[in-house]
Amino acid sequence: MTKDYYSILGVSKNASQEDIKSAYRQLALKYHPDRNKDPSAEEKFKEINEAYAVLSNPEKRKQYDAYGPEGFNRQYNQEDIFRNFNFEDIFRDMGFNVGGNFSESDDFFDTIFGGGRGGRQRDDQGKDLLTKVNISMEEAVHGTSKRIKITHIKECDKCKGTGVEPGYKIKKCPTCAGTGQVRNVRRTPFGMMQTISICPTCGGTGNIPEKKCTKCNGTGRLNASETIDVEVPRGIATGNRLRVSGMGDYGKDGQGDLYIEINILPDKRFVRRGDDIYMEAHVPFYTAITGGVEKAKGIDGEVEFEVEPGTQDSEQVLVKGKGMPHFNKGGFGDLIIKIKVDIPKKLTSEQKELIEKFKDLDSNKKSWFK
Ligand SMILES: [Zn+2]
Ligand SMILES: [Zn+2]
Repeated sequence: MTKDYYSILGVSKNASQEDIKSAYRQLALKYHPDRNKDPSAEEKFKEINEAYAVLSNPEKRKQYDAYGPEGFNRQYNQEDIFRNFNFEDIFRDMGFNVGGNFSESDDFFDTIFGGGRGGRQRDDQGKDLLTKVNISMEEAVHGTSKRIKITHIKECDKCKGTGVEPGYKIKKCPTCAGTGQVRNVRRTPFGMMQTISICPTCGGTGNIPEKKCTKCNGTGRLNASETIDVEVPRGIATGNRLRVSGMGDYGKDGQGDLYIEINILPDKRFVRRGDDIYMEAHVPFYTAITGGVEKAKGIDGEVEFEVEPGTQDSEQVLVKGKGMPHFNKGGFGDLIIKIKVDIPKKLTSEQKELIEKFKDLDSNKKSWFK
């Protein structure tokens, strides 16, 4: 249902804020339920308020002008429309007596809009659940299977979620006479208003069991602990969530899902950044000087890496494609090796002699240090 807010207030599209305000004021006085007992007045009054809430807000008015009633209603629900719209000030300004309860906005929206606030619907979709699981870096590299224990709400197996003891029937709720709703008349700043709310006895279904199921006490649901095996794919990262469909809480309109959030425990040797892996590798001083190929234990077996002649301590070497496997797609990140140059602590006399010889040959120490 789309509404032309301008024609509701009886103003032109170019109307100034002052024009809009005075048009609204007149109409609000005319249709205020305190003054107007015509049955259609309440509906009309709501419409006027909605139109004013949009057109009195420059930002919303701009959106409304740009997208038209239909487009606007796709973007804004009732709650959005009335957000930051202070009825209390407006009505006080107009000389209505604004009562103390009025500032409770929930109450207020229920009063004006009959509980249909922002299109919020009563449904019984089961809740999604979240649990966290720790895995090692090793498990993240290869993928793993984890057995986890969860507690969730399941459909009662005895009554199949109906809440009715097997062998008994469902009867009409006496509180609401099967309508699922109860009506209350309340006094509000707008006068006496009727609100409709969900029947507390039957929860809105209009039916109650002749005898409640003894296993679930008529709730139709049970708390259950279960153990499930979860496949954790390789390449997964901390914060990634795996969804296990239908393992959340039970609701009459559907079972929620279970989300498993992965946390990768810190590793002694490897640091992960994205899908790149950082590690250190020790290289003998002579390889650092002359260059060569060295081996190290990477995240998935041995890797070979090139050491350039004259490599200094803490210099990094990039090994393409030896990092983490990408999650949910092919390929790998890179491995970045920080080289730690090992300086010998003990030398044989022969080794010491060779080093001494090197020292003697080196008349100008500065020449190799650059
Ligand atoms: Zn039951
Ligand atoms: Zn009822």
